[in-house]
Amino acid sequence: MSEISIPYINPIYKKAVQCPLCNYKYTTSKIRSRYIIPTTIDTDFFTLYKQERYNPTLYHVHVCSKCGYSHTENFSLSFSPQERKDFKKHLVSRWNYKDFGGVRTHEDALKTLKLAVYSARLKNEEASVLAGLYMRIMWIHRYLNNEDQVLRFSSLARDAYREAYLVEPLDRPEWPSYKVLYIIGELERRIGNYREAVKNFSLVLNSRKTKADPHIRSLAEKQWQVTREESKSRR
Ligand SMILES: [Zn+2]
Repeated sequence: MSEISIPYINPIYKKAVQCPLCNYKYTTSKIRSRYIIPTTIDTDFFTLYKQERYNPTLYHVHVCSKCGYSHTENFSLSFSPQERKDFKKHLVSRWNYKDFGGVRTHEDALKTLKLAVYSARLKNEEASVLAGLYMRIMWIHRYLNNEDQVLRFSSLARDAYREAYLVEPLDRPEWPSYKVLYIIGELERRIGNYREAVKNFSLVLNSRKTKADPHIRSLAEKQWQVTREESKSRR
């Protein structure tokens, strides 16, 4: 009887992307979902994986090697004529060909996320898109133990989520308003703004909508308590 050989499947595969700005076709790496195995998820959703090299945050951003335009699946696809001009002036004319399509280190991932922030700002993407990028930059710095950068990007994420909460249409299925309030509260707590943290956790707990989301409700209860204790011990 011949042995059955199991074909090796690379956990990382190539995904074809067409640049929404210059139409160039390139590939970017993604991780097959079965290899993405979270082991712990912290209260700010910072996640550790069984194998850190299969952390999807590393491959979140698509970078066009030809023009530099960097985006995620959350970006809008259209550009106004003015935005096209701005990209030409501030990005394309300065960009030197660089390929981020292969395996990425944490440092590579930080570069791609910062490029995506630059593109998002040139394109006036919604605050929630920027907030998601700042959170991911913060998570990578947490993994690398860069405490000052964690604080810096926590503040930027907090500001962007605040703006998203005030300006954007509320209660999208993927980001209900109470979840935005919870994450603002948790970022405030980590920054050390306990009063603001408690205010936001209370809003989550007072929202009738959280009845349908016991996970966020219990997180908010727990973190409200943690904040109370931390603020007492700092007095
Ligand atoms: Zn391009």
